[in-house]
Amino acid sequence: MVEHRRDTFPGRDACPSWCVRRHVAHSHPEDLLHQSSPRYTVLVTGRPWRPETLPDASSVVGRIVGRTGSADVWLEVTSEENDAVRICVTPASARELVTVLESLIAQAGS
Ligand SMILES: [Zn+2]
Repeated sequence: MVEHRRDTFPGRDACPSWCVRRHVAHSHPEDLLHQSSPRYTVLVTGRPWRPETLPDASSVVGRIVGRTGSADVWLEVTSEENDAVRICVTPASARELVTVLESLIAQAGS
């Protein structure tokens, strides 16, 4: 687990309860993101419209992210090793996506 030190990030808003990122003032712009602990899984992606390509298993990581100074919360899922998967949605959009996917899974009989 990443050390979480709110006192090293003067002048910024307080971190949300889920943030595990160590913020350091005057650092890289990516440090302006609050970030939760990661959740790992594997997604198999494919391009069935291109039969010459094979399904590809990618390790992905999911996190809650949010920009400092903003109350907006995002759910991000990205490939760890390439750009095969990258999605960043609001929690409401994620719920809608889960509903659609569950419906499609049931319809597909998988
Ligand atoms: Zn934070």
